[in-house]
Amino acid sequence: MSGEAPAKREKRKVPIVEGLFTWPSDKPALIAARCKKCGAIIFPKAAYCPNPDCEKDPNNMEVIELSRRGKLWSWTIQHYPPPPPFKMEPFKPYAIGLVDLPEGVRVLGMLTTTENLRCDMEVELTVGKLYEDEENEYITWMWKPVEESSEK
Ligand SMILES: [Zn+2]
Repeated sequence: MSGEAPAKREKRKVPIVEGLFTWPSDKPALIAARCKKCGAIIFPKAAYCPNPDCEKDPNNMEVIELSRRGKLWSWTIQHYPPPPPFKMEPFKPYAIGLVDLPEGVRVLGMLTTTENLRCDMEVELTVGKLYEDEENEYITWMWKPVEESSEK
């Protein structure tokens, strides 16, 4: 058909490290491991339980998806570039926070904003771009403040 708009070329979104979160997904979730013996949850997932009382048996570990919402426990603003394999272009100061999840684990992650952050605010998992090249956008998981309704 003539008159058709040219297809917009979208870059492929590629996780900076495989296996950290479910992807592709509209509702990405962090992938962790749980020890079936002691219940320890490890993110990023590990082959063995770090608990010295547990045998180093990969069969004890099961892969789980963590809750997508948690509470911001603490955060800080970073003014220097993140360590490899993370890379940010163009670099600008960013917030990194520790988030308490209902599973009882605290997960570190970048926040989508540096503004209006406060302790105990609810945040939700999303993904965001770190940098891009000709073909791909390289993404990582990020915590995004949940919009609060003013009707509370
Ligand atoms: Zn264990």
